[in-house]
This record gives sequence, structure tokens and C-alpha cells, in this order.
Amino acid sequence: MSPEFGHRLREGIFPAPGEIRRTAVAIIGGGVSGLSAAWKLDKAGVGDFLVLELEREVGGNSRSGQSPLVAYPWGAHYLPLPTRESRAVRELLSDLGVLQGDPLASRPAYDERYLCATPQERIFRDGLWEEGLLPRLGLSPAERDQQKRFQARMEEMKHARGRDGRRVFALPMELSSRDPAWLALDRISFQDWLVENRFTAPSLHWLAHYACRDDYGTAYDQTSAWAGLHYFACRSGEADNAAPDAVLTAPEGNGWLAKALARRAGGRALTGAVVWRLQEATNGILVDCWLPGENRSLRIQAEQAVWAAPAFVLSRVWGAMPAALRQGVLAGGHAPWLVANLHLDDFPEERRGAQPAWDNVLYDSPGLGYVTATHQLIRRRLKGTVFTYYRALHDLPPAAGRRLLLETPREVWAGNILAELERVHPDIRSLATRLDVFRNGHAMRRPVPGSLWGGERERLAAFRSRRLTLAHADLSGFSVFEEAQYRGVVAAERVLERLGAPFVSSVDG
Ligand SMILES: Cc1cc2nc3c(=O)[nH]c(=O)nc-3n(C[C@H](O)[C@H](O)[C@H](O)COP(=O)(O)OP(=O)(O)OC[C@H]3O[C@@H](n4cnc5c(N)ncnc54)[C@H](O)[C@@H]3O)c2cc1C
Repeated sequence: MSPEFGHRLREGIFPAPGEIRRTAVAIIGGGVSGLSAAWKLDKAGVGDFLVLELEREVGGNSRSGQSPLVAYPWGAHYLPLPTRESRAVRELLSDLGVLQGDPLASRPAYDERYLCATPQERIFRDGLWEEGLLPRLGLSPAERDQQKRFQARMEEMKHARGRDGRRVFALPMELSSRDPAWLALDRISFQDWLVENRFTAPSLHWLAHYACRDDYGTAYDQTSAWAGLHYFACRSGEADNAAPDAVLTAPEGNGWLAKALARRAGGRALTGAVVWRLQEATNGILVDCWLPGENRSLRIQAEQAVWAAPAFVLSRVWGAMPAALRQGVLAGGHAPWLVANLHLDDFPEERRGAQPAWDNVLYDSPGLGYVTATHQLIRRRLKGTVFTYYRALHDLPPAAGRRLLLETPREVWAGNILAELERVHPDIRSLATRLDVFRNGHAMRRPVPGSLWGGERERLAAFRSRRLTLAHADLSGFSVFEEAQYRGVVAAERVLERLGAPFVSSVDG
């Protein structure tokens, strides 16, 4: 959300609505959660809905861009192989023809075009590229032993079940065990968990920190150990035609998924519509949105509404929001992120070591690294490419990170990014033809210790009112495709129940 819209929402000064439009279901937010709610309603034959999105395009954090050469991501860039519990993800991939055969098979086959081409990832450390994510070169036998012990422990946790019989770390997280012994992990940080479990190797601490920055935009000493372990232990999906650690991707990252969902929503998305007021009334729920292009407000009168925008925004637009929920929407705070797309005339010079990969990770750098948009186009030899550079501002409190993000001029960010990448590609500056910077101040909710299973988030996720249902990955306490989609589908199923429309659940097994 642009800072200008954010400020206006806080002030709440908008033109009074003139026109009124009626629809059965208003969906606020056109990210993966909102589009997934639309997908489920449409599949159940309820076509009378309207998705309201403040940006000019739907997709939220899974939006993508297009150069004359190739499409590229602006945020989310991959999906791990879906777990057994990710039933709705499997159903969607099957609808799209990417998962082939029985969607519930333990090892389905996937369309090769979406399986990440090898090499999938490499890491730059001590002047050398190494294949994979976990550094191995030059490490002592003791450190390597610790790495093996850590991997064995994560493998064990993939299969671990709580006393209630559920998987300890399920994806979507809502399906995880509620065994208090495991939920207690939410009370300590991931860093503390490593130390308590005698994992002292610097390369393991780096990996844990990297994982938390990558998925949660948060340092590992500020991430709940439950969330940190979830990153490693939830990914239990397998494929008939790929290794278990393979990911699904496309040149535009997860933009292909957002676009497919948007196609299904068809003309029922209104973009450039900033929802600024929600009121439950006897005859429906009133959703007022401002159309900045025309500087007028439109009132949507709906039977049901799905809130699929970030939960903290709800507190600004819903005057009657229960006080207990207000605390829950702010818990943990939101991580700021910087994403940049570098358009390059040609592939840059390489340092020694492993071949260019899709994900190119920097061990000792402010940014995480970059993904290469053309990597997936293995059969087309292109001269240029687009690198998508990622940096979470994890080393500052979120508000200070946001200030730095917004107050630092674009040219300074561009200069810093080029200097960082010059370490690995000395000629990159001379090859860059364009560098676009995207600053996302409230990109994703941070799973800080105590924020997942301490009560606030659960209250938010369980909230129901007569006409308003919440969606958005915020309900899970951290943001990945599977969580956003699950929350959107569950919200749609609740709405279908209220409308009395028959449907087959996409989430209940
Ligand atoms: C840099 C980055 C990289 C990521 N990488 C990955 C990845 O590789 N894999 C992965 O699975 N996930 C990744 N994610 C997580 C990503 O957030 C989720 O995958 C998913 O896209 C979240 O969807 P959502 O609907 O929950 O939220 P959002 O994407 O936040 O969508 C919410 C929508 O609501 C709209 N909105 C907000 N306020 C209003 C309002 N008042 N009126 C109308 N509309 C409003 C917003 O504009 C937005 O479009 C990444 C996120 C970021 C930021």
C-alpha cells in the first residue's frame, strides 16, 4: 500500500459515497487470499461477488512484471511441492493442469515447465559459489557432523505427531497439533532453540537466520522457534518426477498463480478501489471504497463480506471492531521489504565455483540474493535477463525499517544494490539497463515469539460475525502462498454456509 493511501486511511477523510452497487459477496483485497476466496465461490456456483483491490492490479505480494524479454516477480517467487494437507493447493494445481493425475496422490507428477530447473540454488561464500543452500566447503568435521544431526532432526520433525495425533508442523499451520509440549516452542526464539539443542555451528546459525529472513522477513533471534522449525519441517511434499526439495516456479515467480486466480475472478475485480469504511447494517454489510482516479466513493451493499486485506488495516476501516480483536491484528508487527528488478543486457561475469542457479544466495550480505527470471526458460537461449533482488529490513525494529525504506532515496537504494551485487558479478553495473525498486512497508506479519500460539492470533483466526469473515495470511501469523490460499478458501466456505449454497469442501479431508 502506498504511504499516501495509508495516511488517508488513518485520517479517514474521504468523499461521501454517491453510487450504491449491490452484490452477494464483497471481497476486500485482491491478493492470493482474496482471489482464492473468489475461486472457491466461483467453483461452488456463487458468481455474484466483487473483489475490491486498492492497487491498479490484483495479486498483492504475488504480483509480477513483464519486460519485453521475460516476466519477473515483484514478491513471492516459489511454491514448495504441496504437502498432503495442502488439499486446496493440490486442487488448484490440478485445475490448472500443473498437478497431473490424482490430486491427492502421495507423489503426484507435476508439469515439468513449473518444476524449478536445475541447479535450483547456490550460495556465495568466501569468494566462491557453492551448489545448494547449506555451506559445506572448508568446514571442520565437527561442523559437518552438526549439519548432519540438524538435518536428521528436521527429517524426524517432518513426521512428528503430537499427542492429538496431528502432524506437529502441518502446512497450512491451522492443521498442526495442539499438543502443548510442542506449542511451547512458540515461547522461545529459534536462535535459543538451536543453542538449547547444542547446535552451535556458524553455518547452521546462518541457515536458520537466512530461512527466517527469507520466509518471515525477520531475524532468527526474533522469530518464534515454532515458526523457525515449521519452515524446515512442514515441507513434506513429494513428486513422482522431482526431488522432494524441488519447488514450483515460473519466470514471474508466483505471479502465474495470481494471474490464474485473477482469470477465474474474471471481470468481477474492481481495481483502484480503496476500501475505507465497513459497517454492518440490518439489510447487509456496507463497504465504502474510494476511487482515487475519479475522487469519488462508491458504496457496495453486500450480504456477506470477506476481509482479505492485511488485518491491521481492518482496525482503521471498521469503527465497530471488537477491542479484543484490535490487539490481535497488531501483534508481532509487519516486516518491511525491499525488492528490486534489474534488467540486464547480458548475463554478467561469474566468480569461481558453482554454475548460475535460479536462486542465488549471498552468505554475508545485507540482501538475501537474487532469483533469475530466465532460468526457467531452459529451451530458449536469451541474451539478456532480469534479476530479482530481495532484502528484508530485519535488522531494525519494523517502524525504523519502514522509515529507512521510505526515506532513503531510490538512487541510494539502487547504488547500494549494485555495489552489493558487484561483489559477485563485477561487470553488473555496465550491463544494467533498468533498475526498478519496490518498497513494501508492511509486507508480511512477523511470527515473533509468542505471536502464533499465545491466544491473540487464534482469536483473530476464529473470529466470525454475522456478515463479516476474515481471510488473509495474517490469520496464520506468517505469510506464504499455502496460508493465504487456505485462509481465503476457508472464508469462502463459511460464506457459502451462510448463503445456504451447497459445496464440497476443498480443505476438509
Ligand atoms: C518480498 C516477498 C517475497 C515473498 N516470497 C514468497 C514466496 O516465494 N513464496 C510464498 O509462498 N510466499 C511468498 N511471500 C508471501 C506472500 O505474502 C504470500 O504468498 C501471499 O501472496 C499473501 O497473500 P495475501 O492475500 O494474504 O496478502 P496480500 O498479498 O497482502 O494481499 C492483500 C491485498 O489487499 C489489498 N488491500 C490492502 N488494503 C486495502 C484496502 N483498504 N482496500 C482494498 N484493498 C486493500 C492489498 O493491496 C493487497 O493486494 C512473499 C512476500 C513478500 C513481501
